[in-house]
Amino acid sequence: MRHWGKERALKLNDVFTSKIWPFFKTLSFPRQHHRARVLFMPTHDGKMLILGSTLRDSEIAMERYRETFGTTLTIMLICRALLGLLLAHKAMSGVQRVTQTAIQIGKGNLDRRVSLQGEGFEIDTLAKAFNKMLDRIEVLVNELREVTDNIAHDLRSPLTCIRGIAETTLMGDSDLEDFQDMTTSIIEESDRLIEMINSMLEITKVKAGVAEIKMEQVDLNEIVRDAVDLFQPLAEDKRIKIELNIPPQPVFIRGDKTKLQRAIANLLDNAIKYTPSAGNVSLSLYKEGKNLKLEIADTGIGIPPDKLERIFDRFYRGNGSRSAPGSGLGLSLALALIKAHDGKITVESTVGKGSKFTVILPCSLS
Ligand code: ADP
Repeated sequence: MRHWGKERALKLNDVFTSKIWPFFKTLSFPRQHHRARVLFMPTHDGKMLILGSTLRDSEIAMERYRETFGTTLTIMLICRALLGLLLAHKAMSGVQRVTQTAIQIGKGNLDRRVSLQGEGFEIDTLAKAFNKMLDRIEVLVNELREVTDNIAHDLRSPLTCIRGIAETTLMGDSDLEDFQDMTTSIIEESDRLIEMINSMLEITKVKAGVAEIKMEQVDLNEIVRDAVDLFQPLAEDKRIKIELNIPPQPVFIRGDKTKLQRAIANLLDNAIKYTPSAGNVSLSLYKEGKNLKLEIADTGIGIPPDKLERIFDRFYRGNGSRSAPGSGLGLSLALALIKAHDGKITVESTVGKGSKFTVILPCSLS
């Protein structure tokens, strides 16, 4: 112990003051690279028994572990950083594609879409949401375009007509009666114009998905019966017989009563309008599979096969229909309203024999 010097004696202070025996301590020795684990144990004659064992083997093993793990850890960290960069690049490329598409759309290419390239859930969700938003914007822009076209072409003629009536009366040798006639005609034409504008606005709103559709439980049976009651006088005037085939019990469905009434009324109005005197109109309501079907059939003038595609277009009027009242918006509005209920309208027709319009509504609405 004497050879260990003052400094080491100080380091062994805790050995001499220890109350727990045997006492273990790890010590390093001058000029020795490795430390030793030393046991101190006082003997009964006041001496100290010191036993030590070098930690050389375990320290070498530890060094090797440290070297191996250090290298592995460094490689792992580098790999992780590279992977992070790669992932960030991949994610950013998706965001960049969304940005590029947005720039293209800004230049007027509204039909552009972001392609899905499986770059991860978040990017794919972003791309899908972006594309969905674009679909919606495209629908709205197309609607706006169509309305502008309609204003330019179809609303101009009633306005020109109103102006013509006023001009003719004003320029001619008109008396009070002529002016009264003019006023009546102008009122009639203005009413027609207002109705056209209202229908057009309603079609646009329904198609653009901004119309208020109040979904509630309604009885389709009742709606059909009410429509028949409403048009019965008109049918009687033309000696048209209306046949009604509906189930005795209510047929409940979730829908907007007013909108469904309007759609069915438009179809029934057409059936009566385009059926010559003493004809027949029938309405049949039944369930088929997952759908409810309402057939409105007539024995009227029919529709040529090449025109069947066009009858649902806004302002389309068939050649044989020009003499009948109307503006060519009835079917367009009916279709928009039924589509807003997730339904559709199909048509079968034979010229000279009659037409059958079928409204198909999903039973899931029930
Ligand atoms: P409108 O009746 O005011 O002309 P619609 O949009 O209701 O406008 O109908 C568009 C066109 O479809 C009509 O002009 C007519 O040529 C044709 N059409 C619709 N319903 C019938 C029907 N039941 N029978 C024959 N033609 C029809």
